[in-house]
Amino acid sequence: MSKPHFVRRRLAPVIGTRNYQSFRENVRRDFRRTCAYCLLEEIWAAGLENFEIDHFRPRSLFPEYETSYYNLYWSCHVCNRLKRDYWPSPDLIERGYTFVDLCETAFDEHFALVETGEWHAKTKAAEYTIDLLRLNRPHLVALRLLLADVL
Ligand SMILES: [Zn+2]
Repeated sequence: MSKPHFVRRRLAPVIGTRNYQSFRENVRRDFRRTCAYCLLEEIWAAGLENFEIDHFRPRSLFPEYETSYYNLYWSCHVCNRLKRDYWPSPDLIERGYTFVDLCETAFDEHFALVETGEWHAKTKAAEYTIDLLRLNRPHLVALRLLLADVL
């Protein structure tokens, strides 16, 4: 939970289809069965049935990335639902407000886990991501505290 997190994507599988769902198991493996945003593993977040493929760059805004393997992230249902089709405007991006991408940067560069179980933002991107995805929602904070005692 509190470990630095950096997702290393493997080579995109060669699958002759235009259906991104066919990449499901590969994406799941790349993200080590962990939500790309709240970092809960499937076992702590209601299991596989609660996880889905997220389009990091939303399909509605970037249709060209719909089946792009490296745009497919593993996400719990809540994070995916909160993220929806949000994408920062060019103005926000220029000011540093964008989604933290843990395929590109390490957890510790953006977030600090504090004793209360909350994540504090170290960067504007972290601030944006925490706010939009409610990464300090009560369930997550409670679970982080619980896991800190158990693990
Ligand atoms: Zn999540």
